[in-house]
Amino acid sequence: MTGEGTGVIPSRKGRGEEADFLIKERRLQLAGKVALVTGAAQGIGKAVALVLARNGADVIISDINLEKAGETVKEIEAIGRKAMAIRVDVANLRDVEQMVQTVMERFGHIDILINNAGITRDRLILRMTEEDWDAVININLKGTFNCTKAVVRHMSKQRNGKIVNIASVVGEMGNAGQANYSASKAGVIGFTKTIAREFAQRGINVNVIAPGYIETPMTEALPEKAKEELKRMIPMERLGQPEDVAEAVLFLVSETSSYITGQILNVNGGIYM
Ligand code: NAP
Repeated sequence: MTGEGTGVIPSRKGRGEEADFLIKERRLQLAGKVALVTGAAQGIGKAVALVLARNGADVIISDINLEKAGETVKEIEAIGRKAMAIRVDVANLRDVEQMVQTVMERFGHIDILINNAGITRDRLILRMTEEDWDAVININLKGTFNCTKAVVRHMSKQRNGKIVNIASVVGEMGNAGQANYSASKAGVIGFTKTIAREFAQRGINVNVIAPGYIETPMTEALPEKAKEELKRMIPMERLGQPEDVAEAVLFLVSETSSYITGQILNVNGGIYM
């Protein structure tokens, strides 16, 4: 089988000019698109930003940590795409509106929004403070509302757009010690389905990815023993990588998924089905 007409790319050894062309085409599927990724200075957001850029998009790296965001920008520029770092606290609607205005002035349109910025403040409910609760809800849930509200109005005028919200497996199954976090992520799932309904006729796809346990700075603090226990619970017996989530995001922002909206895509090695 040569791969011709089958959608299968032949092995490197037998790869012909046509296959090279096909690969190039696929890589540039987001050419001309502008993507805004929140929390993109590190971890999952950074992997998403890089995958989108490798596929042709220009990317805005929005994060509370401007210095690290600048490092991601350099990596994207090295790929040959345009990038811009913006310091923003997604919990602050004014900050977010200012960011979107800046992006619109500089790039003229926003085609892809990835609501990825998120934090944890884990404690059992009896020890969880009001501050722990508010911080997580404000960044994870209200932050998703703020960015969506500011961007979707422009997408609506364009009659075109892709929004992917990053929730979590614990928003679906719960997790002791994460009442605030699981509530925020379950909220993101409900929010996604509602926005998907509100904008389905405007050519805007709104979906949610629920990652399982992914190796990022967020999960670095987990003790080795806890990681080993987790691996035993995961059918695939490994934690996920940021790129596992990034590739799922790529699918949801590409035209191949244009009839998919309001859905949860689980990227979790099988820990929750
Ligand atoms: P991460 O490594 O901690 O990265 C999150 C980024 O968001 C950091 O650069 C962080 O900056 C930034 N950020 C924090 N608060 C912000 C704010 N108010 N405004 C703008 N940016 C802010 O986390 P991650 O593991 O990549 O997680 C990314 C997303 O995936 C989160 O929504 C998380 O809940 C979700 N998720 C992660 C996992 C996992 O296992 N890692 C599993 C399921 C879901 P600072 O570092 O300076 O705070």
